Amino acid sequence: MKIVVSRIPPEGLNEHAAYDPSTMDMDRSDIQLKEPFEVDAAIVKADEEVVVTAKIRAPLHMTCARCLEAFTSVATPTAVFSYQAHAADVIDLTDDVRQEIILAYPMIPICRPDCKGLCSVCGQNLNVASCVHRSAMRPSDSAAS
Ligand SMILES: [Zn+2]
Ligand SMILES: [Zn+2]
Repeated sequence: MKIVVSRIPPEGLNEHAAYDPSTMDMDRSDIQLKEPFEVDAAIVKADEEVVVTAKIRAPLHMTCARCLEAFTSVATPTAVFSYQAHAADVIDLTDDVRQEIILAYPMIPICRPDCKGLCSVCGQNLNVASCVHRSAMRPSDSAAS
């Protein structure tokens, strides 16, 4: 999204844009962007400063760190960017929005809070079925409050 400073009216400006992430080098080994992400930006100008409030919506395709299944989750960070701006400037939000989405990536993707993960002995996905090793290692049952 490019903002032409001279075209920002006194009452501000709202802009919407969709970005194709395929050329933006945003993928991590366990997180990929396979679909466009969207930005709703509220743009205001005050003196020599342009302030942009960007509501971002980015579908993330992730691999669960516990059970290794693929799942999708939508990141919706809101960011406020401010730029020193002169009337002749054109502000390009793209790289700031890209950074904001990467900052919103979970440190460790988990498909759901109670994901049981894989059996450490046989590799069975314990969300799908239990296995013979399961009864020997169920910390969640003994920790009931
Ligand atoms: Zn999982
Ligand atoms: Zn097992």
